[in-house]
Amino acid sequence: MYDIKIINGQIPDFSTGKLLEQDIGIGDGKILDLGKNLGEAKKILNAQGKVISPGFVDIHMHEEFLQEASDKIHYDISKHMALMGVTTALAGNCGNNRMDMSFFSQYITKYGAPVNYLSFIGHNYLRDRVGIEDRYREATEEEIDQMKDLLQKAFDLGVVGISFGLEYSPGVSIREVEKLIEPFKNLDILLAAHYRKDAKYALEAVEEMIEISRRSGLPMQISHISSCAAFGMMDEALAMIEKAREEGLDITVDTYPYNAFSTFLGSAVFDEGCFELWGKGPEIILLTEAPYRGQYCDMELFKKVRKERPEMLVAAFAMDEEDIDLSVKSPGVMIASDGLLREGQGHPRAAGTFPRILGKYVREKGSLTLMDALYKMTLLPASRIGLDNQKGKIEAGYDADLVIFDPETIMDRATFEEPTLPPTGIDYVLIRGEIAVKGQQLLRENLGTFLPKVHNSSLSESKPQ
Ligand SMILES: [Zn+2]
Repeated sequence: MYDIKIINGQIPDFSTGKLLEQDIGIGDGKILDLGKNLGEAKKILNAQGKVISPGFVDIHMHEEFLQEASDKIHYDISKHMALMGVTTALAGNCGNNRMDMSFFSQYITKYGAPVNYLSFIGHNYLRDRVGIEDRYREATEEEIDQMKDLLQKAFDLGVVGISFGLEYSPGVSIREVEKLIEPFKNLDILLAAHYRKDAKYALEAVEEMIEISRRSGLPMQISHISSCAAFGMMDEALAMIEKAREEGLDITVDTYPYNAFSTFLGSAVFDEGCFELWGKGPEIILLTEAPYRGQYCDMELFKKVRKERPEMLVAAFAMDEEDIDLSVKSPGVMIASDGLLREGQGHPRAAGTFPRILGKYVREKGSLTLMDALYKMTLLPASRIGLDNQKGKIEAGYDADLVIFDPETIMDRATFEEPTLPPTGIDYVLIRGEIAVKGQQLLRENLGTFLPKVHNSSLSESKPQ
């Protein structure tokens, strides 16, 4: 007797590129059987006319701020992730963590979470932890050593790798990066980097990230190429990455489907010269938090809010839609949200990215096929983080993390005015064989767990000098 049986749905078979009509028998959190005329089940979901996809794997997002509280659990962004079909999310990107890693992993292990969580440890977070206040200066030898100790602790807790936010700490040199990762080069870790600079500097920024991979011999995930190179240089940026792959380097990349980026107004992104760089004025900046929520800037407001509220999350409509489209459809480019919310406010990508790809870019624009889109949001990212023997495919033995959606109606609804509106067209989201989402309602927010990455132990054999 299965716990759940899903009948009459179409499932993607990435090896043939076809949708197959197969019923799915689920038990103990796993996919047990596929086929027709499966045995009885305690619960049957009829997926007639629907597609059943592996749960979406968001390889690039930003976790919520959690704190121990007796009355309620404080999940924010991960609830919205689950509502848009994400079942596994990789936190700690762009060099940033919002909490101590042992607290984060223990909290989720204790309470569960709306999605399965993995995390990077962020370089800028480490700089902060060792007391570097000036983002324009390089770390000292002593600080680098302290950061190495923190890195080791984070790897022991099972983080996936190190994320860099080069744009946010302009003082970080490639030398600092190299020194920091030197002792960990033999571990199977993943590096991720938010580029140093965008627009006309995009190509040299991409080259720098490739160079970090070349020098360290470690795999590199280039983060949200959209906001780096969607200023008329996407073609060239993607070609550079392709060339690096041909050279034998292990470089991959993700993108999000919006022509506005989002970050804190006080960050280095908005330092002197940014408007000249983008060829645009302060009117492209939308303030997303109270008391200015929904207001676009002029120079006076921009300066005032940047000074008084540097933590203000803003959206900046700086990028070219054509280049976004190019990145979305380029083979090998993963779809990721880069979602970041604070108390439910921020950029709509946190609640809309994956349905937007399937609705706008697959169905409406025809930029890519449904199969290619699903691959870019499931198996491809799952493989990148070493989960492809348990997630990213619908096969017997795989985790029953699934999304049931209507390919004719799925669409994001989150907007810059209302960034957390849930999408339409998603019937169910299952995590570990249980129903987490039904329609636009989150039924369970504790089905996900922290997924520690176990690193090979060559470090203990070859002690760093
Ligand atoms: Zn970033």
